[in-house]
Amino acid sequence: MQDTTKHQGLRRQLIASLRDKGIRNDAVLRAMEAIPRHLFMDPGLVNFAYEDNAYPIAADQTISQPYTVAYQTELLQLKASDKVLEIGTGSGYQTAVLLQITSQVYTVERQQVLFKKTQHLFKKLGLRPKKHLFGDGYLGYENAAPYHKIIVTAAAPTLPKALLNQLEIGGQLIIPLGAKEQFMMRFTKTGKSTFDKEKFGRFRFVPLLQNKN
Ligand code: SAH
Repeated sequence: MQDTTKHQGLRRQLIASLRDKGIRNDAVLRAMEAIPRHLFMDPGLVNFAYEDNAYPIAADQTISQPYTVAYQTELLQLKASDKVLEIGTGSGYQTAVLLQITSQVYTVERQQVLFKKTQHLFKKLGLRPKKHLFGDGYLGYENAAPYHKIIVTAAAPTLPKALLNQLEIGGQLIIPLGAKEQFMMRFTKTGKSTFDKEKFGRFRFVPLLQNKN
């Protein structure tokens, strides 16, 4: 990946600030230190890549704030042997972070323009998710189920049932739930149709789209 010492320095500072904000998982911090976020930004915004903010990408979407990526990935408790499904590929940055931890990454994007963009970018950067799909994340991806982990990177007003169904027993779903603002939720599957539910901090995400644009 195309990187520079200047970018590496800025990235180390960003990672230190994430640690100060409470992120503790070393695998997550290491993964984020390794991935050049500037390569996932819109060209005009590259200078902001190591600020802890969300920024616009194409199709009225955003690349998630680094703190949010770190927070969600930490909650995932991802292991190298985990199969993980990501809903909302967006810029592909979170996908790249997941791929630093496990090679078994499946990712779904609803918007053609972003799907095409990341398809090209993944190829250029040599990133190889097991599957990169254009489709509706509400439905998950049944063909590769069950998953150990599922991460949703857009706000869902209600819990998508298909995602819970596609988890293996003991598997976990991290999802921002709510309409205007969201609480980060973690669902752990305890039986065929039983779940534990944990509620975490408050966030603001772009909405999970219900209809095809
Ligand atoms: N992880 C991404 C987050 C992008 S924002 C990043 O850091 O860049 C959320 C993404 O979810 C957007 O790209 C949006 O188009 C996508 N999305 C919205 N609704 C979706 C759906 N129903 N299925 C799959 N992706 C969806």
